[in-house]
Parts: sequence; C-alpha cells; structure tokens
Amino acid sequence: MTPARFALRRATDWEELPALLAQPGAMPVAGAQSLMPMLALRMTEPALLVALGDLPGLQRVEQTAAALVIGAGVTHAATEDGIGPEPLRGWLAHVASGIAYRPVRNRGTVGGSLALHDPAADWPVALLALDAVAVLRRGAIKRRMALAQFLTGAFATALGSGEVLEAIEIPTPPPGARFGWCKIAPAPGAFAEAATAVLLRPGAAPRIAVTTHDGARLLTAAPRPDDPYLARLREVAIRRAEAAAA
Ligand SMILES: Cc1cc2nc3c(=O)[nH]c(=O)nc-3n(C[C@H](O)[C@H](O)[C@H](O)COP(=O)(O)OP(=O)(O)OC[C@H]3O[C@@H](n4cnc5c(N)ncnc54)[C@H](O)[C@@H]3O)c2cc1C
Repeated sequence: MTPARFALRRATDWEELPALLAQPGAMPVAGAQSLMPMLALRMTEPALLVALGDLPGLQRVEQTAAALVIGAGVTHAATEDGIGPEPLRGWLAHVASGIAYRPVRNRGTVGGSLALHDPAADWPVALLALDAVAVLRRGAIKRRMALAQFLTGAFATALGSGEVLEAIEIPTPPPGARFGWCKIAPAPGAFAEAATAVLLRPGAAPRIAVTTHDGARLLTAAPRPDDPYLARLREVAIRRAEAAAA
C-alpha cells in the first residue's frame, strides 16, 4: 500500500515546534523506521509530518559528571559504533547491534524507539534497567522523568500534547557494575519475543527490566513459579551480567 498524502516540514527551532505540532493532524517524525510502515499500512494518516532531526542538540552526545546524555535523535548505528565512555559504551553498542539490520539502524533513533514504546522494542527494556531519565521538551519548557514513569503502557508514554523527547540521561554506572542483556527473537535482528536487561551494582539489588504485553517493566519481585519462561529469561540475563566484564 502507499501512504495517504501528507505534508512534510522540518523543524529547526524549539520555539516554533509546538505551533507546528498544534496544526491539525500533525505528528513528529525522527528516523521514520517505524512510522513509514505504519503510514504505508494506513494505520495512521497524519496530515503533516514534522521532522525533528534538525532541532539543535537532538544528535548530541555529552558526558556529564553523573550521566551520559544522548540526544533523542542519536541513531542506533551511532550507538552501535560507540558513544560515551566504558562501560556504557560497550553495553549500549551490544544492545544496538541486535536491532534490525544496519540500514534500519542508520536511520532509526533511540528517541523514536522510546517515544513509540513498542512492547517488543529493545531500548525501552535496556534503558529502563540502566535507570535512564527522559528529558521531555515543549518549546522552552523541559521536564525530566524516570523511564519507569515515562513508559506508561504499550505504545503509550507520558509525552504531552506538543511535547517531544529531547534527550535521554543514562546514569554513570558505579565501579564494578555489570550489565546483562538477553533477547529471544525468531531470527537475528528481528523484534524480540522476549527480552530482559539486568544491571548489577555492588551492594545493590539487581535492577531487572523485562518486555511485557504492557511494554517495558521493572521486575520488582521474583517471577511466579508458574511463569518458568520469565524465570529462565531472568536467570540467563543475571548469569550473563555476572559473567560480563565489570
Ligand atoms: C525491519 C525493521 C526491523 C526492526 N527491528 C527492531 C528490533 O529488532 N528492535 C527494536 O527495538 N526496534 C526495531 N525496529 C524499529 C526501529 O528500531 C525504529 O527505528 C524505532 O522503533 C523508531 O525510531 P525512529 O527514529 O525510526 O522513529 P519514527 O518511526 O520516526 O517515529 C516513531 C514514533 O515515535 C514518534 N517520535 C519519534 N521521535 C520522537 C521524539 N523525539 N519525541 C516524540 N515523539 C517522537 C513519532 O511521532 C512516531 O509516532 C525495526 C524496524 C524495522 C523497519
């Protein structure tokens, strides 16, 4: 199928963005790797697509004292090729390398993946385990929100009207921290049937995130005995984290 007709505008200024997004039938677009198939299938028929890629700072990568800050427009490929210092650099590259295949990773963005919050997507689970914070922006107004609050349900987030995801802050792991990632998919690069991410920090309880029908969720209690699949996934991710280099 071909998409219904739509107009395309490139946003270059944070101040003008809310007015563009307030136009009837407007929606943001980043790498278009999820949106284009949805348009082609006419699952959504926006009158106006507002491209975010030229907004100042959307591609930035910055290491602060406490966190690695990545702009929402940073692509999976850039992450795969290595951003920030170790150990996050290696952990993020490992997750990114399992997303689809390189042409999709060249255009698809970390922010687009979080904003869509497909329950089978990789970044929501991995970044939830890493205790990441979403930076939401509408014009000049910004708000920060832990991913656990940002990811409200399958294909749902806390983004408000006219608001977009500007950046993601990933706290610098403490010395000795380890990360485990386990994705079960029907083929290399395919969407996950299930995925788990584990962050092990010395002296702290494991921080474990899993895919669910409602999207990425923190696993706060041990899986129920009648859910051996989840128990196994958790066990494998913890074992991988324990075996990983600190
Ligand atoms: C063949 C194929 C295989 C794939 N396999 C996987 C996989 O294995 N694992 C995986 O995780 N993903 C997979 N994906 C999805 C891919 O990772 C997408 O790139 C990603 O989900 C969306 O990113 P995007 O930048 O392309 O967003 P877009 O498609 O441009 O946008 C997606 C949605 O997010 C909104 N949006 C985008 N950016 C922002 C923002 N900054 N603020 C607010 N809203 C925003 C858009 O309005 C839209 O609703 C696959 C895609 C394809 C085509």
